[in-house]
Amino acid sequence: MDFAHDVIAWKRDGGELDEGRVQAFVDGVVSGQVPSYQASALLMAIVLRGLSDDETVHLARAMVASGKTLDLRVLRRPVLDKHSSGGVGDKVTLVLAPLVAACGAIFGKMSGRGLGHTGGTLDKLESIPGFRVQLPQGDFLRQLERIGVAVVSQSERVVPADRILYALRDVTATVDCTGLIAASIMAKKIASGTSALVLDIKVGRGAFAADLAAARELGRLCRLVGAAYERPTTCIYTAMEAPLGYAIGNRLEVEEAWRVLCNEGPADVREVTLALAAALLPLSDLGLQEAEARERALAALSDGRAAAHFERWCYVQGGRWHPGEFHRLAGREVTAAGDGYVGRVDALAIGRAAQLAGAGRRTVDDAVDPAAGVVLHRRPGEAVAAGEPLATVYSRDPARRGQASAVLAGAFDIDEAPTPSANVVLARE
Ligand code: URA
Repeated sequence: MDFAHDVIAWKRDGGELDEGRVQAFVDGVVSGQVPSYQASALLMAIVLRGLSDDETVHLARAMVASGKTLDLRVLRRPVLDKHSSGGVGDKVTLVLAPLVAACGAIFGKMSGRGLGHTGGTLDKLESIPGFRVQLPQGDFLRQLERIGVAVVSQSERVVPADRILYALRDVTATVDCTGLIAASIMAKKIASGTSALVLDIKVGRGAFAADLAAARELGRLCRLVGAAYERPTTCIYTAMEAPLGYAIGNRLEVEEAWRVLCNEGPADVREVTLALAAALLPLSDLGLQEAEARERALAALSDGRAAAHFERWCYVQGGRWHPGEFHRLAGREVTAAGDGYVGRVDALAIGRAAQLAGAGRRTVDDAVDPAAGVVLHRRPGEAVAAGEPLATVYSRDPARRGQASAVLAGAFDIDEAPTPSANVVLARE
């Protein structure tokens, strides 16, 4: 029998894989010597048996070694980054990146495109006319040196193993495995040269982790991989029951992020951003403690420096940023059937409605519509009377507006009494 067969059988029977076997298997997947049916079989054995802590680190190492790694040490300062485990209406990077730079640290991010209900950060940035997300590595470094912030698309040559394995996981029902997710997230961060990282791990209906315990396990494994590479990693756990803020959809989210940068905007987006900034800035070389970091971030939001930094960032990356100036699509309102208070607002259903409207991808080749999406008029806890609007869906296509509004109508619960509002930031470690 061949090597791949033996590795699959070993894992299937509950054996632990050593570093050499994991490395050789991943090398075989990337070179094509291990065919996709054997890679898929191992992935399923991993999902059923789980990965030990050591195996998770071995897998991350093998994935990092599968491609090019960036060395950002030429900057001679820590390069900070953030990752979100994925939420509906999550526009936090758009606020955090210029905010961290306005506070004197360096924020550099390489993003993948991925699939999602709404677009990823790159799609959001590309909804600004002219914004270039594909920068040569030299330009990425120069921009970080010059203005302290750059968000670009990840080179195909970084962690090729993850691209192959993720595509297989997507079609073989093998995405949901904490060790595989931790290795995948952290390998990309480590290979992109990140010095220190904050992870925003979402908890709730709209997230991978349904409860805090599952989220904490993902966080623990990510920090373990970070520690193996001496890349300090802090985890913030945040609620993802309802979408973040009121806007879901690429340009709609940039507009909302801009309001937060101008010291306005929804409280939950602001709170998550400040929690991430307070965790991230102490990982730079500014000598800040967490409380001081939060104060510094608050000051940069209130005195206009964060907003000014966003404008500069757009300009340097080619974007023509004119708030409020974009092609507005026709909208369709969904209204409340009765009087009461908004209870549950189902983030997953809202994300699905935004995707139907054209804001997200179903396959990697789908184009996203920058102006499509959903705007909520009510959030959990707010009063509403019969006939008042709960949300509006924006789409170019009347049929899609109809489908999306039918999904939206089922996304809101109207209760007789208001439920007390809960904190969006649940824990940190
Ligand atoms: N995001 C990633 O980058 N990888 C996973 O495996 C899951 C989510």
